[in-house]
Amino acid sequence: MIELAGIHRRYDMNGQSVHALAGVDLTIEAGSYVTLTGPSGSGKSSLLNILGCLDRPDQGQYLIDGRDVAHLDDEDTSDIRNRRIGFVFQSFHLLPRLTVLENVLLPLRFNRSPPADAREHALHLLERVGLAERHDHRPNELSGGQMQRAAIARALLMRPTVLLADEPTGNLDSKSASDVLALIDEVHADGQTVVMVTHDNDIAVRAPREVRLRDGRIEHDHVR
Ligand code: ADP
Ligand code: ADP
Repeated sequence: MIELAGIHRRYDMNGQSVHALAGVDLTIEAGSYVTLTGPSGSGKSSLLNILGCLDRPDQGQYLIDGRDVAHLDDEDTSDIRNRRIGFVFQSFHLLPRLTVLENVLLPLRFNRSPPADAREHALHLLERVGLAERHDHRPNELSGGQMQRAAIARALLMRPTVLLADEPTGNLDSKSASDVLALIDEVHADGQTVVMVTHDNDIAVRAPREVRLRDGRIEHDHVR
């Protein structure tokens, strides 16, 4: 369970302050599927980065399962970031010199107690996303859709309870996009919490709940 209360985030840009999040209150139940929508610049990525502990709010409270993220030490914060949460980006963020399998195994480098079955689990995940035969290929030998499916396998390696996706289909053709969305639906069906940023209304309506931002505030919170 995720609880945000009174979240603010300001950025300094050339001496000017940008109020990217201007008081966000949001509760996300474990196992739910939420899309975050709103115009460009409305604060979607800023909010997702805070949810993923990639960034911290300047003001407000963020609780994960009742624990205040602000009071966690660095070790606990990186544990949350590396084990509890999987992150998927629009631009995949695969490392070009590593094979697909090595990319999927990357999260191990940030974990003090890696699971013993990680390699086996990675191969299983690659099979699940339809890339078993490509495990020793480099990212540049893959299509965009395949790269994103590899990135999803990587995000799932540590068996996170929450998957955060920032415009995961933004760089994909419509066939690849629908494969990736089907995969994300499956992740949700497995019981994981999914929060996905999208500006595409057809994608937004897939989720049972849509939270729409405008000017750093929640404009609309809609349960279908
Ligand atoms: P969205 O994801 O909805 O497009 P963002 O969260 O990326 O919105 O951005 C919200 C606002 O904050 C925008 O005005 C954006 O330019 C600004 N912003 C986001 N990240 C940064 C940053 N790292 N530094 C400065 N300004 C930023
Ligand atoms: P991706 O394509 O991987 O989702 P983006 O290109 O959307 O990533 O954003 C990359 C990073 O740039 C994000 O962490 C975002 O917070 C930051 N960002 C967004 N807007 C601005 C801005 N106006 N100034 C500086 N950084 C920004």
